[in-house]
Amino acid sequence: LRKSFLAPNGEQIEVLRGATFTAKHGEVIAVTGPSGSGKSTLLHLLGGLDVVDHGTVTFDGIEITKLTPRKLAAFRRQKIGFVFQFHYLLPDLSAIENVALPLLIAREKREYAYSRAGNLLEDAHLTGREDHPVSHLSGGEQQRVALARALVTHPRLLLADEPTGNVDAVVAEELGKALVSYVRNNGAVGVMATHSASLASLCDRTFVLEGGRLKEPRDL
Ligand code: ADP
Ligand code: MG
Repeated sequence: LRKSFLAPNGEQIEVLRGATFTAKHGEVIAVTGPSGSGKSTLLHLLGGLDVVDHGTVTFDGIEITKLTPRKLAAFRRQKIGFVFQFHYLLPDLSAIENVALPLLIAREKREYAYSRAGNLLEDAHLTGREDHPVSHLSGGEQQRVALARALVTHPRLLLADEPTGNVDAVVAEELGKALVSYVRNNGAVGVMATHSASLASLCDRTFVLEGGRLKEPRDL
């Protein structure tokens, strides 16, 4: 994958210069690298949130980089779960409403949406907090809600961009383990950008983004 951006001074910044990898189902890939190395850019391209300059992203035999905007939106809704550093939950909605929302948007039955959301919040040890507005929850609790929201549609591809960047070490470990076990138990694929060596060590393989390419630590 290649991707560059135009800087305000008119200069082209080449962020990705031939980043390439393949992942198997059931596998979680960690992407590390200093701030500004292009981790978020890579995840945005994998999830079809931004357009590649050059290269292809293929998942389950579907070439994401060739989909029309409408098909891409449906693909994202059905197949991809995102967890961001800043959770992007809707602050005035309750925890369970936030988690159920992707299913309601996908026109699933209310009863199913709320029961699945309730189960995920239970897995996230948030029983009793379901009806709290998320703005009243702690940072760690909010990020657990965000992970539950990402998993509610049973995504086949889970993309996490520094998901534990704003939580303490205990919550980070718990979130990382929940994310990895979802991928392994469901034969999904996980890609996680992280600064944390302990989080990366939970994953199956680690790449370092350097000079716009993905390198395995033994290459460095
Ligand atoms: P990381 O997530 O590893 O910190 P990013 O992918 O966010 O890195 O950014 C990589 C580089 O690309 C940075 O120099 C950033 O400023 C630049 N960049 C990212 N998105 C844009 C954009 N939409 N427009 C211009 N520059 C961008
Ligand atoms: Mg980033």
